[in-house]
Amino acid sequence: MKLICQKCGKTYSLNEPRWQCVCGSVLDIEFEPVFDLAKIKKREPTLWRYREAIPVQSDTNIVSFDEGFTPLAKVDFGGKAVFIKQDQLFITGSFKDRGASVLISKIKELGIQKVVEDSSGNAGSAISAYCAQAGIDCHIFVPEDIAANKAAQIQYYGAKLNRIPGTREDTAAAARQAAENVYYASHSGNPFFFQGTKTFAFEVCEQLGWKSPDTVILPVGNGTLLLGAAIGFNELLKAGITDKTPRLVAVQSENCAPLYRAFRENLAEVPVIEKKETIAEGITVACPVKGNQIVAAVKQSGGDFLIASDTEIITSLQEIGRQGYFIEPTSAVVIAGIKEYLSASSTGEVIVSVFTGHGLKATEKMLAILK
Ligand SMILES: *Cc1c(COP(=O)(O)O)cnc(C)c1O
Ligand SMILES: [Zn+2]
Repeated sequence: MKLICQKCGKTYSLNEPRWQCVCGSVLDIEFEPVFDLAKIKKREPTLWRYREAIPVQSDTNIVSFDEGFTPLAKVDFGGKAVFIKQDQLFITGSFKDRGASVLISKIKELGIQKVVEDSSGNAGSAISAYCAQAGIDCHIFVPEDIAANKAAQIQYYGAKLNRIPGTREDTAAAARQAAENVYYASHSGNPFFFQGTKTFAFEVCEQLGWKSPDTVILPVGNGTLLLGAAIGFNELLKAGITDKTPRLVAVQSENCAPLYRAFRENLAEVPVIEKKETIAEGITVACPVKGNQIVAAVKQSGGDFLIASDTEIITSLQEIGRQGYFIEPTSAVVIAGIKEYLSASSTGEVIVSVFTGHGLKATEKMLAILK
């Protein structure tokens, strides 16, 4: 069990309060998860039912709102069914609670009392809520133009909100600077966050009778859900629970699609792009910290990258609303991706996707679309 650097190979104990390597690169976790299916079946329907697969040592350190095991709803797309994880139903309104529950539990275990994090909103809300339960002093850096709902939510949880002028990258830089003195509870880089998002894969496979789907379609900005899912599906295969891993299909916004370009143009590095404004604010990430890893994970799975335009996202939002699902604009990129994927897919394929954020997260934007 250890933290290991992607770049230089240096290792650290899981009990060192480290969020990156001394060389400045991101860290991964080497860990042997255990799955006892009989035990899992008897436990409460939360993501902590996979207890022996989550690298937090003591149960007393678990910070949880009994989150997870969200419904896997069968949704109709022009006569074809797709299973959609209802991750908009988490306590803070987005799937980021998966990562926050595990990361803040580990932070509590390390005895850390103050953290910084940067976010366009949802990760900040999730980290704030779990810090509130754990009694950890929480400082969230956000872009000045953060959605009003998300700013309200973060402050209600008692976190300090630091509004940073400029781009999303300026916000990240400000958080990094603050992280020179304070522990960085980064959703995009801290490896424990991905140990939480991996439970998405465990739940999907358990809900399908411990079988892997054929294809999983996910939105991608920083890739915390996609990389977490990749870890989870690979762990189940390695443990002999499933007999394959799914194709991972990643969907980006057309206006900010660096990973799509790296994949489609077969580039060795993720390109520096000029991003344009998009309604999918939650995936507007021009330089994802783990960009190369995301592209590699999609390639390794035999998957693909797709893009969605703002027009397609808005149409998708309206269509899915009329089926009874109220999700935020960022969350609707996958619908455009699902439609494109289905138009070329074979029948009988088991396809899983996700709604990542609740519509109430973005009331102003949702109202503006109606006008
Ligand atoms: C964070 C977020 C995403 C994208 O997740 P990444 O981990 O950045 O790839 C998608 N949808 C919503 C609603 C989000 O909050
Ligand atoms: Zn290193």
